[in-house]
Amino acid sequence: MAQARREKTRPDKAASSRDIGIDLGTANTLVYARGHGIVLNEPSVVAVRAGTTTALAVGAEAKETIGRTPGSITAIRPLKDGVICDYEAAEEMIRHFVRKAVPGRRTRTRMVICVPSGVTPVERRAIVHASTRAGAKSVHLIEEPMAAAIGAGLPVAEPRGSMVVDIGGGTSEVAVISLGGIVTSRSLRVGGDRLDSAITDYVRKEHGLLIGERTAEDVKIGIGSAWPVPDRPELETRTFTVRGRERVGGMPKTLQLTTADVRAALDEQVEAIIAAVRATLEECPPELSGDVMEHGIVLTGGGALLPGLDLRMASATRIPVFVADSPLDCVALGSGRCVEDLDTLGSLLAPAKA
Ligand code: ADP
Ligand code: MG
Repeated sequence: MAQARREKTRPDKAASSRDIGIDLGTANTLVYARGHGIVLNEPSVVAVRAGTTTALAVGAEAKETIGRTPGSITAIRPLKDGVICDYEAAEEMIRHFVRKAVPGRRTRTRMVICVPSGVTPVERRAIVHASTRAGAKSVHLIEEPMAAAIGAGLPVAEPRGSMVVDIGGGTSEVAVISLGGIVTSRSLRVGGDRLDSAITDYVRKEHGLLIGERTAEDVKIGIGSAWPVPDRPELETRTFTVRGRERVGGMPKTLQLTTADVRAALDEQVEAIIAAVRATLEECPPELSGDVMEHGIVLTGGGALLPGLDLRMASATRIPVFVADSPLDCVALGSGRCVEDLDTLGSLLAPAKA
């Protein structure tokens, strides 16, 4: 996974463009450079020497160290629940990624940055401040569900309700959009990380085995599913062998998990996401929910890749559900559309103040 992501980073493609869009995700950061497309895609991780703020590695290289670091190195994820929780590490990470994506002089870089719809003014200022210190000439913030919807190709400007559900690492954002604005939205702090910890908890409780967060994510991506997929019966017979440590005794042990195990582990968190979708629909003006019933719900973000999530949500809501093309890229592509139009959108998208 980390290898694949690293290969996606193409600094050679990032030429002199000075306007960039950043999807600053809890799990992954993507940078879109004007005229070039997505030029960087790396995990949002910084490895620092313990007790200092000196970054030893950032991105893919730093993610490799999670769970494997000696005491003197700590792997930090600067964003939690979609917002900056470690300010210095976030600034360092933004600076590093911007430098990698936009080589050369960066004094005139205009940045469009996606923020979750639920962030507070203080959190918005923290993001603007960190980006300004990382070299931005101006920073425009756009709401993540809007970027996700644009990136997924939804007709956001039309007088028609469109629903997007972006399931990231730290949060899931549910929003109904019409006429270029978010009509109702909900941000819940359940995303891929919670699914991972649900697997860790399940394996500990059911099998008395302790496994790491990286292993849990590998299990989820390897054999996770939210619901059986009739067209892909082979998914039901998959197994995944995990290595961990016995809770009692502490000896290393291996265990074979099945798709059914993982589905049971994920059940409660998957239900929480579906409940948020239902609640958002209930809050939505009837004309717009009628549009959503007709045109369906679109899933974006890495969590959209969980097999069967679309089917389960469709069954629970009785609304068609579609997974966007390249769900992991939607927010970055949406911010990219704003970057390409920055000159014309300028008045609509006033720069944010630090
Ligand atoms: P963020 O925007 O918060 O950075 P992303 O949209 O990049 O998050 O999604 C990252 C999340 O998606 C991670 O929790 C990752 O484990 C999860 N993910 C990636 N691929 C899959 C997959 N095939 N099945 C389930 N979850 C996945
Ligand atoms: Mg995201």
